[in-house]
Amino acid sequence: MGMTEPPATFGCPQCWPADPEAAWKARASLTGVAELVDDLHFIVTILACPACRQRFLSVLEEEVDWVDGDDPQYWSVLPLTEAEVARLLPPTAAPTAAQLNALGPGRRSLRRDYPKGDVQRFYWAAGLSIR
Ligand SMILES: [Zn+2]
Repeated sequence: MGMTEPPATFGCPQCWPADPEAAWKARASLTGVAELVDDLHFIVTILACPACRQRFLSVLEEEVDWVDGDDPQYWSVLPLTEAEVARLLPPTAAPTAAQLNALGPGRRSLRRDYPKGDVQRFYWAAGLSIR
């Protein structure tokens, strides 16, 4: 157990609105803090809200599709506690999928699924489930 309790709520109405599609749009106004993983099809960054300074983990998983360049994309956005940010920031080694999946179990996260040639979906999930 950590020494500090995680906050009961995360973010502000600007960065973490109730509607998942609005939350996805709000992601565009977040500023970059750190890049943890930058592989071709797996990108993990920490972003921050300029209004309330809430930090978020942003994960992009792209399924490799050799047919053409239109690869299915799966995005996850998870608000982080200060303690989690401190543990994730460099020079800590890049987190593994298992380490990421252990973050914030049950905590509300945002998902954006954009399967190939399909309609994108925005929805709330719990924690991360990186493959
Ligand atoms: Zn905010």
